[in-house]
This record gives sequence, C-alpha cells and structure tokens, in this order.
Amino acid sequence: MQSKSPIGGTSLFTWNLTAVLLLAAGAVIQFNHYAGAAETLTDKRYMGPLSVDVDLRQAPRKIFSVHEEIPVKPGAFTLLYPKWIPGEHSPSGTLDSVTGLKISANGRPLPWRRDLVNMFAINLDLPSGVSRLDVDFQFLSPAGGGEFGESTSATPSLAEIEWNQVAFYPAGYPVRQITIEPSIRVPDGWQFATALERKSEAGGVTHFEPVSFEQLVDSPLFTGRYVKRIDLAPSAAVPVHLNVFGDRAANLDIKQEQIDHHVALVKQAVALFGSQHYAHYDFLLAVSDNTGTFGLEHHQSSDDRIFADLFTDPDIYLVGVGLLPHEYVHSWNGKFRRPAGLATPDYDKPMQGELLWVYEGLTEYFGNVLTARSGLWTPEQYRDVLAITAAQMDHVPGRDWRSLQDTADAAQRLYYTPRAWSSERRLVDYYPEGELIWLDVDTKIRELSGNARSLDDFARAFYGLQNGSMKVLPYRFEDIVAALQAVQPNDWRAFLRQRLDTHEVRAPLGGLQRGGWKLAYTDTPSAAYKAMEKARKMLDRSDSLGISVSIEDKGAITNVIWGTPAFDAGVIPGMKLIAVNNEAFTAEVLDAAIVDAMKSHKPIDLLVNNVSTYSTLPVAYYGGQQYPHLLRADTEPDRIADIVKAK
Ligand SMILES: [Zn+2]
Repeated sequence: MQSKSPIGGTSLFTWNLTAVLLLAAGAVIQFNHYAGAAETLTDKRYMGPLSVDVDLRQAPRKIFSVHEEIPVKPGAFTLLYPKWIPGEHSPSGTLDSVTGLKISANGRPLPWRRDLVNMFAINLDLPSGVSRLDVDFQFLSPAGGGEFGESTSATPSLAEIEWNQVAFYPAGYPVRQITIEPSIRVPDGWQFATALERKSEAGGVTHFEPVSFEQLVDSPLFTGRYVKRIDLAPSAAVPVHLNVFGDRAANLDIKQEQIDHHVALVKQAVALFGSQHYAHYDFLLAVSDNTGTFGLEHHQSSDDRIFADLFTDPDIYLVGVGLLPHEYVHSWNGKFRRPAGLATPDYDKPMQGELLWVYEGLTEYFGNVLTARSGLWTPEQYRDVLAITAAQMDHVPGRDWRSLQDTADAAQRLYYTPRAWSSERRLVDYYPEGELIWLDVDTKIRELSGNARSLDDFARAFYGLQNGSMKVLPYRFEDIVAALQAVQPNDWRAFLRQRLDTHEVRAPLGGLQRGGWKLAYTDTPSAAYKAMEKARKMLDRSDSLGISVSIEDKGAITNVIWGTPAFDAGVIPGMKLIAVNNEAFTAEVLDAAIVDAMKSHKPIDLLVNNVSTYSTLPVAYYGGQQYPHLLRADTEPDRIADIVKAK
C-alpha cells in the first residue's frame, strides 16, 4: 500500500486553540497552545534527542509498554501522536490503542489535557525547572479487525512494531529535524529484525543508533520466536535480506526455488530502476493468519503481513507472492520519489492523494511486472491475474458518477469504506485501474517507438537518479508528463487526463489490446481465479450472476455488482444465501444452477435471509459461467510477453 515528507504545499487549516486544564486543586488554568497543522513549520532542529524505550515482553498479551524521554523548556508545550501515517494515505494513527498515558518531570506527575479539536495533540503547561519529560504509556494491540495499524499485531509467537504507534513527538518541528534514540526489549528467546542499526545490547535491552523521528517511523521492527533470515543479494554491494516470522516453525519451510525467485526479484528491480535508495534493505515478512493482512512500504524495509501458508500452499503463494514486489517497488516509487501532496513535514499536516494513481497504480504495475520477470509468476499467471483485474474494473457502473481521479482525491476515506456495493461506490481503484493505465502507457511507448523504448526508460529516468540518496524527491503531475515526453513524444497530458477524468462505462483496456491480448470470458476459471477464491474463502460470481458469496461465512452475500441480474432481482450485500432452486446452498449447488439455467432458461431461485425475513428472489440469468481470461489477439505483436521477460 502506501506514503510521506519534506516541506511545502498549503495548509488546509491553521488554528489557535485554548486548552483548559483542571488542576487537582480545582483551580482553572487556561493556556494557549497547539497552533494547528502548521504550514509555518520552519526547518529548524529540535533542541535535543528524545529517547524511546519499548518493552515487548508482554507482547504475547498484546501489551507494548513504552517509556519516552523528551527534552523540553518551561512554558506551553504540545505533544503529538502520529496521525497521518506515511503509506496509509489517511489519518489512520492508532490513537485509540494508547492507554495509561502518564507524563511527569523531575519525578512529579504533570497535568495534561487533550486538545479539543485535534485529538492527537496533548497540551501541557510546563513549570519552571522542567527540562525533560518522562512519558509512559501502553500501546494495546487490537484483538481483531481493523485496517493497517488497527489490526492485530501480536500473537503468542510474534509481534510487529510500527514506531508511530509507540512514540509521541513535539509539535512545531519537521519530524526529520527531531532526533530520537530507540531501544527495545523483546521476550526471552525471541529474535528481531529492523532496518535500524544496532548500537549496543545490555541487560536484555538493545539500543539502536540515533535516527530522525521520520526514520524511526520509517523503520518498523518485527520480533518473534520463529524466524528465518535469507540473503537475497549474495555478493552484492548493497545488502537485501528477507526476514520471515511465523506462528509456527512449519510456516517458514521455504523452498530453494522460492528463495531463488526472490533473489531474482532484487536483481530485476535494480535492473529496472538503475539505482537503490537504501543503504541496506530488509523485507519484514510475517506469515500468519493471526495478524493483519497488508503491506506497508518504507525506504529501507517493508512491513509485510500475509497468509500463514504463503510458502507451503502453491495456491496461496500464487495469490500472495506479489506483495513483496509491490512493497519493494515503493522504495523507489513512493518513498524516494513521492507526490508533493503526500510529502508532508510531520504526521499532523493532512496529505493529498491526487497522484495515488502514480504512487499506487504504477507500483501495482511494476510490482506485478517484476513478479513475472523474477519468475515468482509465470507469464501465464501474470496474464491470468491481469485478466481478473481487467474484468473487475470493467464491471464498475460507479464510473458514471466517480472518476478514477476522484478515487485518488478521496483516498483518505476509501481504505475504510465498506466493501459491499464496491462497483457503485468505487473503492481504491487507483491500484487496479492505475495498473491498467500504466500498461496502456507502456504499450503506447513501445508502439510509438517501434519497440525501441518502453516504460522501463521512464523508470530509469524518473527513479534512477541520485543513486543512494534517501532524501525525498517530490513530484507533480507535470513532472510525470515531462518525463514521459522525454522518453517518447506524445500528448501524454491528454492521454492521462482522458483516462483519469472519464465517466465512460468501460475500463481502460487499450493496454491489453495493444499488448496483443483481449479480455474474454469462458466457462472455466483460471488457476489464479481458483486460488483467489480459495485464499479469500469465497465464491466470486461477479461476472455471471453478479454476486460474491462467502464460503467461510456460510452463504453470506458480501457483494453485489450494480446493474447485474442478481441486483435486478433484489439481492443485496448482507443477505444470506440459504438455498438455490430449493436446494441448500453449497458452492456446487450454486454453480450447477448457473449451468442449468443456461439450458432451461428458467430463473435461478435464490432463497435469501435478510435480517428476520426470508424470501425467494428469481434471478433471470442464462449466460452460464463467466470467468475472465486473456486471449491472444494476433492483430498486435505480443508486447505483454516482452514486458514480462527478464532483463
Ligand atoms: Zn502500495
């Protein structure tokens, strides 16, 4: 997923607040405080280093204990808890999981009050003689549900630490100008991995070299009982490691061929971009069904959480193996180069997501291309996954009200939007549809240049500069247009804007066609399609009846595509499918009914439960099974074969 930081842009709000503090004695003191998400942040250094000490010995109980020390001066002071989390593109800071907050100085507790507008700000009035704050609190890892940091991050055998969950910072300074000295204590017998550099170890506490607060948040730490560390860049000057954590030793049973393909991933990515923007890189991968499932990119590492059976079940591998390439690409596209609106100076200033079709869409494109180039997917698997994406985006009636651009503009809401009715709502479509648009761009460059140039040239020009630099290089829409123009003259502004702003009902499938393939439907699912259903424990009949049904939740209808036969019959998400043509629902019964209706031309009767009511809804669908595939179209050369060929 995900994003972050230099200074610039316009503040959406600036406010001055007065916080009211009730002292124990009953006196009321008012003090002026928090000056808002300061556009006026000057590029000044904070007075001295903070320290944060995280005790994870209670991590199996989902309790992370924190002690932080912050140098201060007497007077009004505001502490901020990170709110806008880089890569999450939204104000998703895990404030609700902070408990037990105690602030003291010189051994005496200090009163504090939360800001009345910004819940992430804590206001204090520091008496004379105070030069250092002691801040103690717990982060309670949630027991289930939630997105990103609000999902479970600790099990009896592993824990995943995002430092933004376990550290406050002083308001008014760019986070790269605040220095902090982190330390950690993990349960006995557990190992850990992080991009932070170890400084010393004593008494069970590991101290890391001081870093900026920005770099701290950019350097998550995984710890656990079962760990495997694999060198993905043997003999290379810049080290890359895969650190795998699992709930069971058996989850770490990684085959040599799987390792070889990940070694190839590093080679292919470096060949594509022609640079590296990290001193060393660590994939932090948790293969667990008991923590959240997502990826979060960083400059020198990625926080990757996915299925327990990733390495041991070929279907799960097929579905999940694209995660690491995606997050790795972000080291270049998203971390080193970042849309100006996402490059904010601290975690308080709101982010603007308008270019997420580049940040996420191009990462999705290059991530999947590299998955194929490295051999993690075969070319056929790449095409099968692309067919699923194309079919999903080609059944989105919500295009008539919401452009792709608006999905990026509204990104800060869309990760948390209900998934049901996704075709009418439109969700974070800038990932899948962004991928289609960048395929469109790549094939267009190849066509116009007679195959002499490609999007690889754009990658080298746009990301391959300043080798070794981790300083964020922000960009705007015009920079993308100019860089494409330099690779291959064309009216790229119009090309992109047409696809971003359109309300056409069909997905942008020009890249498939120019790539030598066309989207078609057959009555047989691809291996990728079956694997996707298995991983998600559901039946996806979006392209036929127009519904998705949970197998795990025994017939719960999780989605209905707007305007399909099921929609017309009155089926809605949240219903439970009880029976099909009077026979108790199973996957086999539903699929047999779809096939039978093609011959009988009789509606399929779905007996559904909606809250306390039951009804039979006749679905007039006679088209049989419809599963997406790409079929070769000889009118064009097979440019997709060229695109996924190893370099
Ligand atoms: Zn991403």
